[in-house]
Amino acid sequence: MAWKFDFLIVGAGFSGLTMAERIATRLRKSCLVVEKRPHIGGNSHDSYDPSGVLVHSYGPHYFRTNNEAVRNYLSQFTAWHPVDYKILSFTEGRYWQFPVNLNTFEQYLGRPSSSEEMEAWLAENCQKIEHPKNSEDFVLSKVGRVFYEKFFKGYTTKQWACSPKELDASVCARIPVRTNRDDRYLNERFQAMPKNGYTALFEKMLEAARPFVEVMTETDFAKIAEKTQASEVIYTGPIDEFFRWKHGHLPYRSLRFETESFTAEALLQREKISGKKGFWQPAVQVNHPGEEAFTRIVEIKHATGQQCENSAIVREYPQDCTGDAEPYYPICSPASEEIFQKYRAMAAALQTGRDRRVSFIGRLANYRYFNMDQVVGIALHEFQKLENRYREK
Ligand code: FAD
Ligand code: UDP
Repeated sequence: MAWKFDFLIVGAGFSGLTMAERIATRLRKSCLVVEKRPHIGGNSHDSYDPSGVLVHSYGPHYFRTNNEAVRNYLSQFTAWHPVDYKILSFTEGRYWQFPVNLNTFEQYLGRPSSSEEMEAWLAENCQKIEHPKNSEDFVLSKVGRVFYEKFFKGYTTKQWACSPKELDASVCARIPVRTNRDDRYLNERFQAMPKNGYTALFEKMLEAARPFVEVMTETDFAKIAEKTQASEVIYTGPIDEFFRWKHGHLPYRSLRFETESFTAEALLQREKISGKKGFWQPAVQVNHPGEEAFTRIVEIKHATGQQCENSAIVREYPQDCTGDAEPYYPICSPASEEIFQKYRAMAAALQTGRDRRVSFIGRLANYRYFNMDQVVGIALHEFQKLENRYREK
C-alpha cells in the first residue's frame, strides 16, 4: 500500500527543513521528509563528541547574513551567540593574520605600517589584470605574488587538486582583502552561531511543524519513490542523481574529516600555543597552505561559545569525490556548467508537471556553492511562490 502525503521532501538539510516547516505551519499540509544520512541537518549538522564537545560534523559552519528576512525567520527557532570569526594561516613555521589585512602586512614587513603604505605597496606589487578570469590571476591582482605564494597557491592546489590557474576567479574571490585592521574572515553584517547549535535549531523547526511532518532518516529517495504518493516533490539532493546521470556525472570535490578530542589535562600542554586555557590552537580555524596533507584545522569551540573544559579539533583532508565520498564542493567550469544546464532543462519540465510537480532547491539540486543563509533565502522564496499558488486554487 502506498504512503500518502501532500509533499515528499528529499533531504533534511536547511533547504528541506525550511520547506517542511513552512508548508506545515502555513499550509497545514502533510510532508514526508526522507534523508539518507542517519541524522537531520544535512551538512550543517552538529553533535556532541564523547567528551562532551559540540563539533560540526561536516566542516565549520559559520552562520552569517545580510538578509534580515532569513535572520528573522531563523530567530524563531534559536537564540544567537554573536561571534566575529577570526582565523589564522600557519606557514613558514609561524601564525599569520588571515585574510590579508594591515596586520598581515606588518607581520610581513616586521615593523609597524599604515593603510597608506600598504595601499602603495599593493599598487606596486599587484598585477594589473582588469578582469581576472581565473583564481591565480584574481589573487595576483588583489594581493600580489608574495601573498599569493604564501597563502593561496599551496592551499588552493591541495583543496582542488589543480592549479589556481584552472579555477574560476570566484573560488578565491570568496576571501576578502583589507588594508585596515579588520581581521574578520567574513564581511556580512550579522555573524553568529545558533546558541545551542544547529541540530537544536533543526529540532525546533520540526517541533513547530508537528504533527504535519514526518522524518525518515537512513532512507534513500530512490528506494521509496515508488512507495510514496505525493502530488508535490521537493528535491534537495544531487540533480544528476535524480535523472540517473543521463548526461553524465557532475564533478565534485570531497573532504575527509579527522576528529581528535582532548581532555582538559591534555590541553594544559597546549596553553603556550593556544594562549587560552581549554583550547588547542589560538583561533577557531588555522589554515595550512604548506606541505601537510590537510588544508585546515578547526577548533569550533572558539566560535560556539560552549563552556566545556575539554576540546576537539577537526583536520580537513581534501579528496576526490569517488565511491562513498560525499559531494561537497561543485567544481565550476564551462564543461560542468554545460552538463548542469542539460539537467536544469529536464528539471524545468517537471516543475510544471500535472501528476507530480517536482521542485529542485538547495546547493546539490542547483549545483552551486550556496551558503546557509542563501539556501534558507531561496527556500523561503520558493515557499512564497508555492503559497501563492495554493491561495489561488
Ligand atoms: P545539504 O545540507 O547538503 O542537505 C541535503 C541533504 O539531502 C543531505 O543531508 C543529503 O544526505 C540528503 N540527500 C541527498 N540525496 C538524497 C537522497 N537520494 N535521498 C535522501 N536524502 C538525500 N555555509 C555557510 O553559510 N557557512 C559556512 O561556514 C559553511 N561552511 C561549509 C563548510 C563545508 C566543508 C561545506 C561542505 C559547506 C559549508 N557551507 C557553509 C555550506 C552549507 O553546508 C550549505 O549551504 C547547506 O548545507 C546547504 O543546505 P542544503 O539543505 O541545500 O544541502
Ligand atoms: N583559499 C586559499 N587559502 C586560504 C583560504 C582559502 O587559497 O588560506 C582559497 C581556496 O581555494 C578555497 C577558497 O579560497 O577553496 C575559498 O575559501 P573558503 O575559506 O571560503 O573555503 P570554504 O570554507 O568554502 O572551504
